[in-house]
Amino acid sequence: MTEAKKPGREPGKITKIPMENRRKTYAEVSHGFSAEEALKEARRCIQCKNATCINGCPAGIDVKEFILRIKNEDFRGAIAEIKGHNTLPGVCGRVCPQEDQCQKACVFNKKGEPIQIGYLERFVADWELAQAPAPPAINGRARGGKVAVIGAGPAGLTCAADLAKEGYDVHLFEALHKAGGVLIYGIPEFRLPKDIVAAEVRYVQSLGVTLRTDFVAGKTRTLDGLRREGFKAFFIGVGAGLPRRLNVPGENLNGIYSANEFLTRINLMKGYRFPEYDTPVNAGKRVGVFGAGNVALDSARSALRLGAEEVSIIYRRTRQEMPARAEEIENAEEEGIKFVLLTSPKEFLSDDSGNVRGAVCLKNRLGDPDASGRRSPAVIPGSEFTVEMDTAIVAVGTSANPLLLSTVQGLELGRGGYIKVNKNFQTSLPDVFAGGDIVSGSATVISAIQQAKAAAKEIAKFLAADAVLDQGIA
Ligand code: FAD
Ligand code: SF4
Repeated sequence: MTEAKKPGREPGKITKIPMENRRKTYAEVSHGFSAEEALKEARRCIQCKNATCINGCPAGIDVKEFILRIKNEDFRGAIAEIKGHNTLPGVCGRVCPQEDQCQKACVFNKKGEPIQIGYLERFVADWELAQAPAPPAINGRARGGKVAVIGAGPAGLTCAADLAKEGYDVHLFEALHKAGGVLIYGIPEFRLPKDIVAAEVRYVQSLGVTLRTDFVAGKTRTLDGLRREGFKAFFIGVGAGLPRRLNVPGENLNGIYSANEFLTRINLMKGYRFPEYDTPVNAGKRVGVFGAGNVALDSARSALRLGAEEVSIIYRRTRQEMPARAEEIENAEEEGIKFVLLTSPKEFLSDDSGNVRGAVCLKNRLGDPDASGRRSPAVIPGSEFTVEMDTAIVAVGTSANPLLLSTVQGLELGRGGYIKVNKNFQTSLPDVFAGGDIVSGSATVISAIQQAKAAAKEIAKFLAADAVLDQGIA
C-alpha cells in the first residue's frame, strides 16, 4: 500500500453547496477546510527533504514550512509564513491554478492525490480573518522616497505592500471606487467572496499604504503631474481590461455582451442583487459563451444564477486545452453548463428587432501545436450548424487599455500595446516600473504578484540609489 492510501492518509474532501441549491445562490460554492480537516490534510504531508512544492509557487512561499506549522496547530505562524511572501493569501488560496503550480510539484502526484495546498492556504487566511489581526510586519525604518502605484489589482496591491513594508511612503491610485481590480469586478462572489478581497485590501492599508480611489491616472492627474507633487518612482499595474472581439458579422446585435461588461455589472454594480441594487442584468433564457478560460466559465455560471435555462460554453479546442482552473471546469459541469467543443463562430443571426437569436458555427479539427504549445484549431469547410441563443457573451481575452499609456511621453510599448520592460520590470523611463497583465497580457493573479514583487525590489534599489545621489548633491 502506498503512503497516500494508508488509513488516515486519504486526501481531504472538499464539501460544496449541494447542486440543487447552486443555481439559486451567489454564495461561495466550496466550503473550504474546517480546522480538523486542515490538520488532517497537513498531517498527510511527509515534509520531503527536497520539497519540490516550494519551487512550484511563483510567489516563493515556503509551502513545506507553512504546512508544518499547520501540522503543529500553529495557525498564526502558518499565516505569518505565507504573508512574508504573499499579501493576498485568501485570494490565492481560492483562485490560483494550483494544479499547474505547487500541487503539480507535490511528490504525491506520483502516488496518489497531491496535498491540497491551496485549500490549506485558504484555511489559514480565513482563520486569521476570524481572529484579531496580528500587527503588520513592517521590516524597514521610514524612508524618504514617495512612490505612486497606479492600479489597485493584485499587481498594484502587492507592489504597494512590499514597498510599504520596507518603509517607503506609498500612495496607491485606483480608477474605480473600490480597490481589488479583477478580484472585485471580474471574479464572481461564488468563487471569491468580496469580503475576503476587502480584508486583504485593508491589510495592505494597515501597512501604511495610502489608498486613493476614483483616481484615473492620465485623466485625474498625469504622471508628470504626480512627479511635480514629489513622487520619485512609479509602478504601473493597470491590468489589461479592454475586451477583445470575435470579429464576426452581427457582433453588434442587441443581447451580445463582452464578458467584461457582463461581469462588471454583476459583481461591481451588484447586478445579482437587483432590485436591491439598481443594476438590472438580463441573462436571457439561452446563453452562448464564447471562450473557455476562467472569464468564460465565470460568465456562464453567473448567467445560470441569473435564471438562464440553458448555458453553453462554445470553444474552438477540446476540453483538454481549456485554460480555466480544473476545479471550476468541474463545478461548471456539475451545474449543468454544456460544452460545445471544437467549434468556432462564423456569424450571429438577428431576429426582426435586431436582437441576437443564434450563432452560425463551424466545427474544427486540431492541427499541430502553436506558439502556446496547444494544438491549433482548423475549421472544417462546410460544417456549419446553428446554436440558438438569446444572449451571447464574448470571453476571448482582453488587451491593453491605452487611456493612461497614451499620456505618458517616452513610454515604450510592445506588441499588443503592452508596456515594454527590462528584466528588472523597469520601463523605457528610468523612474517608471510596471508589472501584471499590462506587461504580460491577460495572465493569472499569481503571475501579477510575482512580477510586482520583483518590481518592488527594483524600485527600492532605484530609490536607494536616488537618495545617495541626492545626498551627494546636497
Ligand atoms: P487588474 O486586476 O486588472 O487590476 C488593474 C487595476 O488598475 C484595476 O483596478 C483598474 O481599475 C485599475 N486601473 C486601470 N487603469 C487605471 C488608471 N488609468 N488609473 C488608475 N487605476 C487604473 N487569474 C487567476 O489566477 N485565477 C482565476 O481564477 C482567474 N479568474 C479570472 C476571472 C475573470 C473574470 C478575469 C477577468 C480574470 C481572471 N483571472 C484569474 C486573471 C487575473 O484576475 C488577472 O491576471 C489579474 O487580476 C491581473 O492583475 P493586475 O493587477 O495586473 O490587473
Ligand atoms: Fe508536502 Fe507535497 Fe511539499 Fe512534499 S511536495 S513537502 S508532500 S506538500
